[in-house]
Amino acid sequence: MKFSTDGLVLKSADVGESDRIITVLTKEYGIVRAFSNGAKKLRSPKQGATQPLCYSHFTFFQGRDSNTVADAQSIETFFRLRDDIEKLSLAQYFCELAVELAPENEWADDYLKLVLNCLYMLVNEKRQQIFLKLVIELRMLTLSGYMPALGECAVCGGEPEGDVFFDVHNSCIYCAGCRPAGERITRGILNAMRHICTAPAEKLFSFELAPESLKKAASLSERCLLNQTHANYRALDFYNKLLRE
Ligand SMILES: [Zn+2]
Repeated sequence: MKFSTDGLVLKSADVGESDRIITVLTKEYGIVRAFSNGAKKLRSPKQGATQPLCYSHFTFFQGRDSNTVADAQSIETFFRLRDDIEKLSLAQYFCELAVELAPENEWADDYLKLVLNCLYMLVNEKRQQIFLKLVIELRMLTLSGYMPALGECAVCGGEPEGDVFFDVHNSCIYCAGCRPAGERITRGILNAMRHICTAPAEKLFSFELAPESLKKAASLSERCLLNQTHANYRALDFYNKLLRE
């Protein structure tokens, strides 16, 4: 049986001499894994369209145990990402997040749009890298059921007035009166984080944060994500190493 769909290639791994297995994020079927026979050998449009970070139109053969790429035509290659190692490693981290958090055999339109929008803005420098990283981390957590509890103080249930404290281990906030733990954040950071978690998709990127606040929010979102997902993200480690150098 054949099926067709558009999808973003998240990763590719060599199998034997000439085959690869690719992991694709699709709108209708979520994560799809498929063999791409001979793709390494042949200089074909299919070869280009099955590279990581290519958004392509795929036709898959569905076998009994595995899928095979029957055809692939690239729609968007995000080619310029490959000229900049920082952008490339951040883009790879976006893909790692999708591999980890997007569903299989389920509609994944929200995930696909999120990653494609972030890649588009990254390559075209529409937003700062740290901004995109913050947005994709918090939004992916939200989509996959790990939304931080930002609505009210986790102890007294009240709306915090004045200072707010964010607890990365429990992924929640506290008011100044209760504060059993956590790091102080400004109202602006809280509002931005709430926006990322709850805004409709078309308004997701429409907010601003001052540089210091952006840095703080991004640090919290990264630690929150690592705590919640218990996964290793090699591209993130590499990206952070590049930033330190
Ligand atoms: Zn409280």
